[in-house]
Amino acid sequence: MARPPEFIAPSHPVACLGTANQLARMLAMADTPMLSTKKCPHCQQWSTWQQRSDDRCEHCGELLDPQAYQSDLAREKVAQQKMPSVVLVQIKPEDGPVVRFFKTIVRGGQLAFAAILAFIVWVVTVLVG
Ligand SMILES: [Zn+2]
Repeated sequence: MARPPEFIAPSHPVACLGTANQLARMLAMADTPMLSTKKCPHCQQWSTWQQRSDDRCEHCGELLDPQAYQSDLAREKVAQQKMPSVVLVQIKPEDGPVVRFFKTIVRGGQLAFAAILAFIVWVVTVLVG
């Protein structure tokens, strides 16, 4: 009774090497992020998409997800913006108690305003993204 061919062990070293290469390739594939496809909004062709906002269509070179790209840009802009701490009223030691009192109130208002502004920016970022 002859053994089925698939049970014959690879005796040739090249065959062994081939199997090792295949295994290595499979492991490498498991490491790479899942590639998906996305329909290009410009030319209506399906293009590979790495789920990144700056991926471009392989057919026409346009952005695959312009909305995500825009919101990413907006998010970067927000991240680069520093809190308006420079505009804050400086309370100097030479200020009198009355001036100091009013400056403290203005400062508190400014801080509250900055907090509200930060909250609005956060809400917009969440809604857009
Ligand atoms: Zn396209």
